Amino acid sequence: MAARIVVIGGGPAGVRAAQALVDAGLRPTVIDEGRRDGGQIYRRQPEGFSRSYETLYGTEAERAASLHQSFDALKSKIDYLPDTLVWNISPNAVHLASGTSYRTLPFDALIVCSGATDRLMPVKGWHQAGTYSLGGAQVALKSQACAIGSRVVMMGSGPLLYLVAAQYVKAGAQVAAVLDTSTFMQRLAALPKLLAMPAALKKGIALTRVLAKANVPVHRGVQPIEIKGSPQRGVSGVEIALPGGARLEFACDAVALGYHLRPETQLADLAGCRFVFDDAAQQWLPQIDTDGRSSIQGIYLAGDGARVRGADAAERSGRLAALAALQDLGTPVEGVERLRAELARFTRFATGLREAFPWPAKFAASLPDETIVCRCEAITAGELRRVVHANGAQEANRAKAFSRVGMGRCQGRYCAHAGAEIIAAAACVPLSSVGRLRGQAPVKPLPVALVEEVSE
Ligand SMILES: Cc1cc2nc3c(=O)[nH]c(=O)nc-3n(C[C@H](O)[C@H](O)[C@H](O)COP(=O)(O)OP(=O)(O)OC[C@H]3O[C@@H](n4cnc5c(N)ncnc54)[C@H](O)[C@@H]3O)c2cc1C
Repeated sequence: MAARIVVIGGGPAGVRAAQALVDAGLRPTVIDEGRRDGGQIYRRQPEGFSRSYETLYGTEAERAASLHQSFDALKSKIDYLPDTLVWNISPNAVHLASGTSYRTLPFDALIVCSGATDRLMPVKGWHQAGTYSLGGAQVALKSQACAIGSRVVMMGSGPLLYLVAAQYVKAGAQVAAVLDTSTFMQRLAALPKLLAMPAALKKGIALTRVLAKANVPVHRGVQPIEIKGSPQRGVSGVEIALPGGARLEFACDAVALGYHLRPETQLADLAGCRFVFDDAAQQWLPQIDTDGRSSIQGIYLAGDGARVRGADAAERSGRLAALAALQDLGTPVEGVERLRAELARFTRFATGLREAFPWPAKFAASLPDETIVCRCEAITAGELRRVVHANGAQEANRAKAFSRVGMGRCQGRYCAHAGAEIIAAAACVPLSSVGRLRGQAPVKPLPVALVEEVSE
């Protein structure tokens, strides 16, 4: 009997993994919680929308079209389950929910290509209506052709900050300011690594030109102070401190925040994969070898869900993980060395991006006590510090048990990183010793009315 290989994710990594498996004569199952393929970057617009590839994907239009065409050609050769959430993994089976039905699907090999989400640092007032993540602001534009507000401030750091701001400008939205916590000198220091991908660097520089042409104020090296507003009216402005200490305020009715990305690792965690602390990324990441093999036999991790390296790298790592799975199942494969070499270049560039737009860990220690950290459960920085001092909760899961931080709908996706920084600063311990929140099923909320699907 042919091996049953399941691919989670229909983004660049998942599509290229499926393609490699089909090329080898297999019929993989591809599962995605989204209604359409493409993943984050090449997200397809809903049926009935008719924007062109150039309008939707800009400089990435050709790549988007290529991935979509590849997927369309694969459709009759794979079992495709869109609109289906993988909410748990047990040994050799994935647990699926679609609408109000659930079922279990066994596998011989599993390739997890679950992508990434925004990495967020709280700021006082960020719980008010009108505050989004940069990714959320982009999804609104790409998917529904909507801006998040009529006057938007973009704040944080990372390539997505400039990209989303430029996309909003091009779409005709008003960007009140771009407020970057990283400095020009940090970018300069990272230049040798960024030169690993000169074309990508050029695209990044072009984004700043779009903002300059539209007269969008751009400030670098800023410290976010507060998102102003009221419960009745939501966001009304953003206050920052400039590098010299002077305060500035920008009026707006929406804010988009983000500091680069964090891999979606809950499924790897539920599968029992070993995690290691990555000093450069200051994150716990699932352990993988060069080709994406995890510490669990038969489970492979690829794309941004394993290491954030961007879409082109995700395509390579998806293919590489599929080749690793085929090899482990005894099928001879070709092209591994070339893919590894290409991936190494993307890794160097991604390291450069991380150094150019660093995660602002230092802000966690200075967050005012009243700042909400966990927006799902309304847990403040002060409450987290209290459980560190009063209950000796210096470890992430212990702090969660005492405070409920990370216990809400998002399961810590948006607060865990900053929460760990606050605990580390309050307990005066290294971030690595705080550990990470253990993944819990279901990874996302499920309908109460879920009913088991009985196969005929
Ligand atoms: C919000 C956001 C916006 C971005 N915008 C850009 C951009 O404009 N330009 C750019 O160059 N890069 C962008 N990036 C980065 C880029 O999206 C990634 O580098 C690239 O998409 C990675 O491909 P991937 O296949 O690893 O993951 P993705 O493209 O993210 O695909 C992962 C897929 O897995 C599915 N999935 C995840 N978990 C489950 C589950 N439990 N069950 C079922 N399905 C699941 C998701 O629905 C998704 O379709 C963005 C990233 C994010 C998070």
